[in-house]
Amino acid sequence: MSHTFKGGVHPNYMKAPEVPVTVIAPPSQVVIPMIQHIGAPCQPLVKVGDYVKMYQKIGENPVPVSAPVHSSVSGKVIAVEPRPHPLGDMIMSVVIENDFQDTPELMPPLTEEQLKDPEAILERIREAGVVGMGGAMFPTAVKIRGGIGKVDKLIINGAECEPYLNGDHLTMLNFPTQLLKGIELVRIANCVEKAYYGIEVNKQDAINLLNSLNPAQYGIEIVPEEVKYPQGGEKMQVKAVTGREVKPGGLPSGVGCNVVSTRTCYAIYQACYEGKSVIERIVTYGGSALKGPVNGLTRVGTPFKHIAEQCGGFVKTPRKIVLGGPMMGICATSFDAPTVKGTAGVLFFTEEEDRHVENPTCIRCGKCITVCPMNLEPVFMYMYYSKGDYENMEKYHVMDCFECGSCSFNCPARMPLTHAFKTAKIMFQVKMAKEKAKAEAEAAAKEAKK
Ligand code: SF4
Ligand code: SF4
Repeated sequence: MSHTFKGGVHPNYMKAPEVPVTVIAPPSQVVIPMIQHIGAPCQPLVKVGDYVKMYQKIGENPVPVSAPVHSSVSGKVIAVEPRPHPLGDMIMSVVIENDFQDTPELMPPLTEEQLKDPEAILERIREAGVVGMGGAMFPTAVKIRGGIGKVDKLIINGAECEPYLNGDHLTMLNFPTQLLKGIELVRIANCVEKAYYGIEVNKQDAINLLNSLNPAQYGIEIVPEEVKYPQGGEKMQVKAVTGREVKPGGLPSGVGCNVVSTRTCYAIYQACYEGKSVIERIVTYGGSALKGPVNGLTRVGTPFKHIAEQCGGFVKTPRKIVLGGPMMGICATSFDAPTVKGTAGVLFFTEEEDRHVENPTCIRCGKCITVCPMNLEPVFMYMYYSKGDYENMEKYHVMDCFECGSCSFNCPARMPLTHAFKTAKIMFQVKMAKEKAKAEAEAAAKEAKK
C-alpha cells in the first residue's frame, strides 16, 4: 500500500543528512524572545543584573494558551527590552551575557509512576515550554489536552519533506531509543493505545534502525511513506496514515487524529526523563551563500550573525535569509534576530536562488491546480486576488490554503501565488476581527440602552 495523498510536487530536496551534527558554539550574548509560540506572550520573570542558570525559566504567562521560555546559557541578565524577532517586529526579549559555565537548573526527572500518568506528563510538557517544533509552535500540552477523548489515532510526523532540512532525520539516527520513548510518552498523554510514525522512505536508514529497536514494545508502528512534498502537512499525514480526509476548514482532531512532530517527541523525552526544558535543537543551515550545509545543534537565542560566522562565513553575498525550508519558509528581516524553538532551518540564499520575476503573466496552463493537495484552484484565487475581490477568494476557499507553496513551485510563469494567498488570509483575519469587534460594540451599546 502506498501511504501518500493526492497532489504534491517533487522539488530538488538538497538534503545532506550525511553531514554530521556539529555543535554551534554558544554566543557571548543570547537573546531570548518572550514569544516563541502561538498564544499569549510571556512576561519576563527576571530583571537586569539577575544571575540565571541554563534551563531556568525566565518568562511565562499563566493563561492556558502560552508556553514558558527558558535560558539557554548561564550568566547575567544585561537587558530586558524589545529586540528584533526572527518573524519581524521588535519583541520583548531577555538578553543574557554568557558566562560559558553552562551551570544547569534541571527539573527532577519524572518518576516511574509519573511516566505512566497522562496528567503528570502534560504538566511537564507545559513546564518545559514544549511547542510544535515542526514550525507550528503551538503549545503541545494544549494541543494534546484538546484532543483527549476525541482522538483515536496518534500520528507522529517523520516526513520532513521540506528541502534542505535534516534535523528530524538526524534525531532519528542519533537518538532512536530516546525518540521512541518520547513517542510513547505522547501516546500515554493522548490516552491512545498506538502511535503511527509516518516516515518518508528517503529515510530508509532511520526506518530500519527504528524497526530494529522493536517499536511495538512502546506501542508504535512505523509507517513508510512515499516521498512527496508536502507529505509533512498535518492533513496529508492524516490521509497517508489513516485514509481519513480532514474537511475544509477542519482540524485533524475533527477526524479523530492528532499529529505531533518528531522533534517535539524528542523534546518531550528530554523534559520527562532528563528534566530539561526546551533550549536547543538541531537546525540545518544551507543556501549557496554558505560554504556548505551545516547541521548544527544550536541554542535558542543565538543570533543569525553569530551562526553565519560559526558556519565558516559567507562565500557569496546573501540576498535573503529564509527561516524553515524554501517551500514554506518565511524571510527574516534582520541578521541580529535569534533562532527560536520553532527554527528548523536557516537558509542564506543568494540572488541565483531567488525565483522572483518582474511582472509575471499567467499562461492558463492549470499546473497549479493539479498539484494543490487541498484541491483548490490557485489560478482563480489569484485572479480574484489581483482584482482585490476578497469575497470571491473566500468562495474559492482561500482560507483552506495552508501555504505549502506547491502551486508556486509548479507554476511555469512564476506567479507569486503563495505570497498572494498568505497576504489575503491575513487581510481576512483582520476583516473578521474588525467585524467581531463591531458586533460586540453594537451588542454592548444595545445592552446599555436597556
Ligand atoms: S493553493 Fe495553497 S494549499 Fe494549494 S498548492 Fe497553493 S499554497 Fe498549497
Ligand atoms: S500554473 Fe501559473 S501559469 Fe499555469 S495556470 Fe496556474 S498560475 Fe497560471
